[in-house]
Amino acid sequence: MPKHTPTSLDPRSPLVLDTRELPRRPGALRTVKRVVPAPSDLGVELIGVPEGAGLDLDLRMESVSEGVLVSGTVSGPIRGECGRCLREINDSVTVTIQELYAYQNSTTDVTTEEDEVGRMQGDLIDLEPALRDAVVLALPTNPLCREDCPGLCPDCGVHLDDLPADHSHQQIDPRWAGLSQLTRTEE
Ligand SMILES: [Zn+2]
Ligand SMILES: [Zn+2]
Repeated sequence: MPKHTPTSLDPRSPLVLDTRELPRRPGALRTVKRVVPAPSDLGVELIGVPEGAGLDLDLRMESVSEGVLVSGTVSGPIRGECGRCLREINDSVTVTIQELYAYQNSTTDVTTEEDEVGRMQGDLIDLEPALRDAVVLALPTNPLCREDCPGLCPDCGVHLDDLPADHSHQQIDPRWAGLSQLTRTEE
């Protein structure tokens, strides 16, 4: 079985880096500064980069003996909702990328596992997997509209910010009183 599947990367794809202009001489450098549309599903359940939003790539590609080292930052807007009150969150995220892409058939290519080090596909680099990993790691799993968001009243669902400090629901509807008794017995 061939070690590499033939390249299926499109050099015009926004998250594919083309190294044809980069001499394969250790130390040679090229910078990549561009704004590209974000791919779909770049995020976690409650928050992520909206598809098509501008991702700001500020990267450099450096030839090293075994491949190309890509480093720099990617930033973009993130949108989501607060895990406590469901209010919309608009923020931004900046991630650092540092990833080695080994030349095909280099010692690094031959002696490492596919998931340890990135691989060049001919002259092309698929930046998307590394970008996805970095963005997903940087996003909060429980995003909040602000750190001390008090959330919603569990009884009426109104934001506690919009309710007086002494807001409470002490009256138990008599029709439910029996049920809450039942629930308590089951615990
Ligand atoms: Zn909130
Ligand atoms: Zn309430």
